[in-house]
Amino acid sequence: MIVMKFGGTSVESREAMQRAAAIVRARIERRPLVVVSAMGKTTNKLLAIAAAAVRGERESALSQLEDLRAFHLRESIGVENEIEAHFTELGELVRGLAVMGEMTPRAVDAVSSFGERISSLIAAEMFRRCGLNAAHIDSRDFIVTDARHTQAAPLFDETNRRLAAIAKMTGVVVMGGFIGSTRDGVTTTLGRGGSDYTAAIAGAGVGAEEIQIWTDVDGMLTADPAILPGGYRVKTCSFAEAAELAYFGAKVLHPATVLPAIEKNIPVRILNSRRPESEGTLIVAEAPACSSAIRSIACKRNITLVNIVSTRMLMAHGFLHRIFEVFDRFETPVDMLATSEVSVSVTIDNTRSLDPIRAELEKFAQVSVEQDQALVCMVGDHIRTSPGVAARVFGAIRQINVRMISQGASLLNISFVVAARDLAHAVESLHKEFFTDPDPTAFE
Ligand code: ASP
Ligand code: MG
Repeated sequence: MIVMKFGGTSVESREAMQRAAAIVRARIERRPLVVVSAMGKTTNKLLAIAAAAVRGERESALSQLEDLRAFHLRESIGVENEIEAHFTELGELVRGLAVMGEMTPRAVDAVSSFGERISSLIAAEMFRRCGLNAAHIDSRDFIVTDARHTQAAPLFDETNRRLAAIAKMTGVVVMGGFIGSTRDGVTTTLGRGGSDYTAAIAGAGVGAEEIQIWTDVDGMLTADPAILPGGYRVKTCSFAEAAELAYFGAKVLHPATVLPAIEKNIPVRILNSRRPESEGTLIVAEAPACSSAIRSIACKRNITLVNIVSTRMLMAHGFLHRIFEVFDRFETPVDMLATSEVSVSVTIDNTRSLDPIRAELEKFAQVSVEQDQALVCMVGDHIRTSPGVAARVFGAIRQINVRMISQGASLLNISFVVAARDLAHAVESLHKEFFTDPDPTAFE
């Protein structure tokens, strides 16, 4: 079996669904199990509707809901009754939220689950009309999770037991991504972007030979196209590189996707549903050697640098502990870290709790904050074994003021922080340095 996951843009309309059907049909002998995201931006819209309801904007919520209903009816065929039934249920939920005026994580999941519940019904019917023998299943009967609503974690033993039944089914099974349910049958979701995760969980559960992530780009590129157009497609990369790239801002793949796949050693392929003939990017446990030390340049904008200085802490132990305890208490992840005897610099991208964090840190240190920074991350399995990579990196950007550097934690990245205004220049210079004459076995 193979798992074929189609993201929001790959099922955003009837035409997109028909394209997906043709892609599935062309691979029918590999026994596809299909996982779909919500159509287009449906999840965002559902969350906006719920938020409006809770704010007391009942009429606005209901009219947005009506737009979403009309959209799904317009972009589907043959499942009007099911769609109506779902929107009736959803309407009741939204009215309830408007009355309650508050939204629990459990209610968020109840609302946001509708995107995938409906898109999977529509996709299954569209596939049937395109001549496929498609069967719809409700993912909530298969993906069993804990009760951490909006970020639920699968209970793998139970989930795998249930998924095993799918391997015995005939025809093309279609299921929604992102959603699951607790043992008690309460609807949960795996976190935003979670359909990739569903694909990996399902792939591991049915023992798939490959997991295909169908999206709207040709796979991973050597540089973020929004910053540097004209990068090359990365033909193959390792699981570790993919995770690192995703962590540092490459938007094509949810990092958690790789976990169940790594464990079972299942290759993951990122493919473009608008250009199915492109080979995409293959992610495997170990990528074949190539002559480039760098596989790709990822970057993350809107980074905030926090510098923490305390001469009082000179020679004292426990300084890092105190600092991290503060970030931890305010549930703010730290991306990158550099230390000296009396100072620590960290980067964060979630600044929601920056003010209280700062106030807490100022109880024992001087704190300065620099906004509008960007993180550039060069990723490659062979950075550690290729002498001179750092020299080439910093040679390429010698005109740029680098605020912070980190190499080593994972052995496969060199990352640094620059002012956001220098980002494009930095990426361009680095790309020229490392990809002017790319190894054709690894890049195209
Ligand atoms: N529909 C969900 C979201 O937008 C899950 C996904 O598309 O992966 O986050
Ligand atoms: Mg996604």
